[in-house]
Amino acid sequence: MRDESHPSSVVCRPSSRALSSDFQSLCSFGGRLAGSASEAQAIAFARHQLVAVPGARVREEHVDYPGWRCRNAQLTHAVTGAALQCTPLLGSASTGGLVAEVLDLGPGRQEDFKRHANDIAGRIVMVRHEYPFTSSHVHRRVKLALAQEMGAAGFLIAYPERDAGPVSGSTGRNGGLGIPALGIAAEAAGALRPLPDGTLARACMLVEGEDFPARAPVLIADLPGSGGDWVVVSAHIDGHPHGESAIDNATGVAVALALARLLAPRISACPRGLRLCVFSAEEWGLIGSQLWLERMDASARRAMVLNINLDSVAGASGLTALTSGFDALDTFVQQTLSRAGLPIATHLPLMPNSDHANFAGQGIPALRLIAGFNQPRSNLRFLLTAADTRDKVRPDELDAALQVAMTLTWRALSAESVADWTSYPE
Ligand SMILES: [Zn+2]
Repeated sequence: MRDESHPSSVVCRPSSRALSSDFQSLCSFGGRLAGSASEAQAIAFARHQLVAVPGARVREEHVDYPGWRCRNAQLTHAVTGAALQCTPLLGSASTGGLVAEVLDLGPGRQEDFKRHANDIAGRIVMVRHEYPFTSSHVHRRVKLALAQEMGAAGFLIAYPERDAGPVSGSTGRNGGLGIPALGIAAEAAGALRPLPDGTLARACMLVEGEDFPARAPVLIADLPGSGGDWVVVSAHIDGHPHGESAIDNATGVAVALALARLLAPRISACPRGLRLCVFSAEEWGLIGSQLWLERMDASARRAMVLNINLDSVAGASGLTALTSGFDALDTFVQQTLSRAGLPIATHLPLMPNSDHANFAGQGIPALRLIAGFNQPRSNLRFLLTAADTRDKVRPDELDAALQVAMTLTWRALSAESVADWTSYPE
């Protein structure tokens, strides 16, 4: 039987067009690196769209974080002098010109580092970027930390496929100590392999960067319910300098805007309100949402009873909810979506790969909705490269993400009690 209060019936063609048009607009601003003009334009656009939502109280807050900018980054083969395609990892330490042998550790997993423990000091360690959305993946920052701990002089991480250019990503250094770190293309990694006789290639790394106090926006739209609690739907608007940061995360922001528009007329009668948070500096080790949550009064944090974080929600068919170790939330997601005829996969262990991890860290039940989990051949493999562009996203994938996000959000807004996802239902 159709539940009349179910909001999926309001997902109609005009809203899909608005979703698609917002997605295109966000992509057209460019990669939206935090602190860039392209990010500022995207924030202004999102604010304009939210102000137009009837009943939305929109405000912009800011957090101060350790910023970084790069004037110059170069990688050259020290023997041939060939310039190799690279991009500095966000927050890379600087070097006026480091020349060293390149030790290729293949994927760069813990066992690769262990096997070469005595070969690492003073050398440039080269590893491969892995598809980030599988249960077994090893994160770039783990590999970088191992290289740094074991005395490497520099760090290179290579995208595994040709023709996609260098891979970007954050070092998570945040003004602390670090080593020079560059993302490189598959072709550059090929040029830096050892010679057949085992002689290591030598490379020259140049990174001229600067730490400075930076400020990241947090755009908030509150649509109050009848009580004081909030269901928080979040999406990060910042991205990387190359491409359009289309999948990651124009998809999530566009879906969040559409969700706010569609649910707005129904929220005042709900027991709890909808708070939409558009974060920035997510790509800087999740620091934007982390600082925003940390400085808040405990009572204000307690009023946020659930976080539904939309990050990279299209670009593959099939969504997964990463439910951050909250058993009852996992059950709530499965039950809610199968009742609505929209079943998706869930993954219970905490995946600290987006802003939901900071909510979870504060004890707030939190999930990330993501496309392409455990689908390494999906278009999500282009994240963090110049190939993360709008052509990788199909309109029906955006619509499906909107339906799932809206169904979960509506259920959480309208449920009689938060016990539905904070403990096992009776
Ligand atoms: Zn993201």
